[in-house]
Amino acid sequence: MIIKLKDTATEKQIAKLKNKFLKEGFELHESLGTSTLLLGIIGDTTVIDINSLYAYEFIDTVLRVQEPFKKVNRKFKPEDTIVNVSGIEIGGKNVVIMAGPCAVESEKQINEIAPIIKDAGAKILRGGAFKPRTSPYSFQGMGVEGLEILENANKKYNLPVVSEIMSIDDLPYFIEKVDLIQVGARNMQNFALLKELGKIDKPILLKRGIASTIEEWLMSAEYILAGGNSNVILCERGIRTYETSTRNTLDISSIPVIKKLTHLPIVIDPSHASGRWEYVESLSKAAIAAGADGLIIEVHQTPETALSDGQQSLKPAKFRALVKKCRRVAEAVDRTLK
Ligand code: PEP
Ligand code: MN
Repeated sequence: MIIKLKDTATEKQIAKLKNKFLKEGFELHESLGTSTLLLGIIGDTTVIDINSLYAYEFIDTVLRVQEPFKKVNRKFKPEDTIVNVSGIEIGGKNVVIMAGPCAVESEKQINEIAPIIKDAGAKILRGGAFKPRTSPYSFQGMGVEGLEILENANKKYNLPVVSEIMSIDDLPYFIEKVDLIQVGARNMQNFALLKELGKIDKPILLKRGIASTIEEWLMSAEYILAGGNSNVILCERGIRTYETSTRNTLDISSIPVIKKLTHLPIVIDPSHASGRWEYVESLSKAAIAAGADGLIIEVHQTPETALSDGQQSLKPAKFRALVKKCRRVAEAVDRTLK
């Protein structure tokens, strides 16, 4: 439930109202708009009689929030959330590009690719150290050593890093070595993991589940915010449909829907969405035109020899050309891609 207060409401009146709800066992969420205060009431609000609230002369409007997600709901916080990833802001006017290989394969590979993607315009380096592979016989990632390689590259090239966490047990390593913790599609509903990520303040990149609805995805984000961590960036990476010509189907509609439903930023992963390098540029341009706050793209020096996802990885020259084109699309929709 949301209570919009009149701008004449005094601090004393507001404190009294807040106390009443706290005593009744509700949790409160405040959002200060341009001039009015929105008071979010979280809990079983069905017991509250809306009419009786209008007895308070300083209450302007009372609104029931039908959606099951509360803290991520734009109704609770009308202004966009900007997530700061070690100095890089995601969710503002800028469009931010993250890029790098699917998996960290060696120190040499990362040290080569980091300056290349940075020079092309990427602001965050990606690389999986713990890989969720369909087959147990496929390359599983370098583990903690991979995180150390990313950490060193960050120090050397001043490039924040994003990497996927698969197990709660690894959280201490991620807190120490990674700037943005990725929750992969397969773990979007790993609620135990989400609860732990709610207890920290590090930014989280929450990918949409392989066959999840937008509401389920937002409920997963709600777990993290409910725990106290509001630094969540959503990532649409395609969903499973009956179409087989692409690895997944990029749900472009999710961008305006997410923008309407939540204040959280959204980035698009055109690599996993399409599964083929030749479609990545089109989807990237479409995503920015539709209002995405950023992209996460797989780039590899030699995709032919990549240990995972070579078929969807761009070579450096193609990535550089993509960024240039995306910059123009960003300008066309009044955004900036630096
Ligand atoms: C990845 O980004 O490396 C990855 C495995 O993505 P997803 O979870 O979207 O499949
Ligand atoms: Mn991949």
